[in-house]
Amino acid sequence: MVCADPVPWQPDVWRSELKDAVTSVTELGRVLGLPLEDCAEGAIAGFPLRVPRPFVARMRRNDPDDPLLRQVLPTAAENESVSVLPDGTRFSMDPLRERNFARAPALIQKYRGRALLIATPACAVHCRYCFRKHFPYEDHRPDSREAALAALREDDQITEVILSGGDPLVLTDASLGRLVQCLDPITSIERLRIHTRLPIVLPSRITRDLLDILVSTRLRVIVVVHSNHPQELDSDTARAFACLRGVPGVTLLNQSVLLRGVNDRAPTLCALSERLFEQGVLPYYLHMPDAVVGTHGFHVTDARARQIHDAMGERLPGYLLPKLVREEPGRAAKTVLA
Ligand SMILES: *Cc1c(COP(=O)(O)O)cnc(C)c1O
Ligand code: SF4
Repeated sequence: MVCADPVPWQPDVWRSELKDAVTSVTELGRVLGLPLEDCAEGAIAGFPLRVPRPFVARMRRNDPDDPLLRQVLPTAAENESVSVLPDGTRFSMDPLRERNFARAPALIQKYRGRALLIATPACAVHCRYCFRKHFPYEDHRPDSREAALAALREDDQITEVILSGGDPLVLTDASLGRLVQCLDPITSIERLRIHTRLPIVLPSRITRDLLDILVSTRLRVIVVVHSNHPQELDSDTARAFACLRGVPGVTLLNQSVLLRGVNDRAPTLCALSERLFEQGVLPYYLHMPDAVVGTHGFHVTDARARQIHDAMGERLPGYLLPKLVREEPGRAAKTVLA
């Protein structure tokens, strides 16, 4: 058992906060003191509003342009079928063509040595820019885990398993513990990476049982959190990260997505890097948004992205400058833009 200081959360807190997430636009408007009713709830049936209240609590009241609100609030623009922008960006339902890289239904391998295991299709928050909105989870069923494990046992070239989703930390501690117990004996696997937004949107997810799972595995653990704006980081995220860092050998990294109207300014992203560092997390990637249908409202041109990244480089020490990347199908690694 780890004796982390500060203490992790009680196991039932996050479960009830997850159930209590805001799923109605009207309710979100009420909490924030904003008239949000005109946003058509019916138009978002396939990927409805979902946002945990601890994240809502970090939004500014009465501000329709709040950067946290913008990430989660469905807009009419999502239903416009824009397929090409003036800069040539093409939007599609499946820009990453992940189905071409499935080693097993729930195991996607694009890059040498590491494979992504879809642990669950569920997320605690629905981010409007997410490419997983249209992800065909029925073709990549997490419940077909046995086939994924068999593929990992057969291929000793895979040394890193990346738990993804959805968000793998939506799984209960019991379920996550069983999964890690299945990976642990596969001797070719050295590292376990967990890509999650939960420590940001629901810091109470960091329970003692979760920390015990990370302590007891022989795998080296890397937790990649996903924060896009410094306003997302407060004393609760700091506590969550401190608990995670209490696990020997754990590395904490952050990836962000560059989003118009949310964080497309160098001072904002510099402040994010600095805040992350204060809280013990290093910036890893700054992703160009994936060109998935309905997300053109968040699009930033390559030229603008490079300009922002250059300006960040002029202000930040090298270790606080995330790599500006884009995911392109068929490449040996993510494409570095700057
Ligand atoms: C991004 C990604 C990875 C991880 O790539 P790194 O550069 O190691 O962070 C692995 N698999 C898939 C399918 C990915 O999209
Ligand atoms: S997969 Fe990540 S970015 Fe997409 S909705 Fe879930 S938490 Fe948000």
